[in-house]
Amino acid sequence: MTNTNGGSGATCHVGIDIGGSAAKLGALDGNDRILWEDAVATPAHAEAVDVLDAVAERVSRQGGDIVSIGVGLPGALDRERGVIDVSPNLPWLRGVPMREELGRRLGFEPARIRLENDANVAALGECRFGGGRDHPDMLFVTLGTGVGSGLVLGGRLHVGAGLACEIGHLCVEPDGRECGCGSRGCLETIASASAARRFAEEAGLPKGHPGDLELLTAQSRAAAGPERELLERVGRNLGHGLAVVVVLVDVRTFVFGGGFSAALDVLRPGIEAGIAERSFGERAFELLPATLGNAAGWMGAATLGA
Ligand SMILES: [Zn+2]
Repeated sequence: MTNTNGGSGATCHVGIDIGGSAAKLGALDGNDRILWEDAVATPAHAEAVDVLDAVAERVSRQGGDIVSIGVGLPGALDRERGVIDVSPNLPWLRGVPMREELGRRLGFEPARIRLENDANVAALGECRFGGGRDHPDMLFVTLGTGVGSGLVLGGRLHVGAGLACEIGHLCVEPDGRECGCGSRGCLETIASASAARRFAEEAGLPKGHPGDLELLTAQSRAAAGPERELLERVGRNLGHGLAVVVVLVDVRTFVFGGGFSAALDVLRPGIEAGIAERSFGERAFELLPATLGNAAGWMGAATLGA
């Protein structure tokens, strides 16, 4: 995969990943080579028309023969209507007829524009080009404020009726804390960066800087002690959630992205123990780091219509 200089005239599959601070976009040619990459800022209080104008202008500027367009969007996607119903971080996205608006600006048939959830396009990107390459069955897990995921089976995204494998909201503690989704004891209430920070604050760790996850992670790496035990506990919680996926679809490759995945090395023993405790038999698992960073989303989106 190399950057080639020559959007003009080349066959291109455009991918757009609209995120909390920026829309990342780019295009792949028919051989999955990157033709170009770009980014447009998406302030929280942006107007949809301005963001879409800027995105369309960047795409048009590159030229090329656009054969497909895929878009990753944060929030609850209504696939039939092609709109986002709820997007907590980007309220301006709500209800925008994305296919029509982009299609009109780019002279591209709206019905052929593919929309997908942002975690799912990142899963596709990592599976095709990143940490999950050569693993057609994998679960991509994003560790951050919450726990997001995208399931790829046989190299294809599995979305079911639309919301398949939202593992952050698997109930792992029926009497646990309330979750933002309205349920209780969801995986992300005990296995996300937010959960780790809360546990650390409750335990007064690391000493003098309770809740500082970077410092906690560094101290966990440096020596055995309560910091390492805390992250092992968070990893084990996560493993218990992943075990449900193992039991259900027998996926054995997990690719971890998101800010908190920087602690994967210290979370790993707990994750492995958690999966082993709650699934059957002797199994070999692969826990792999994501490798594409914030390019995973647009690259996965570019494969949606390819
Ligand atoms: Zn929940």
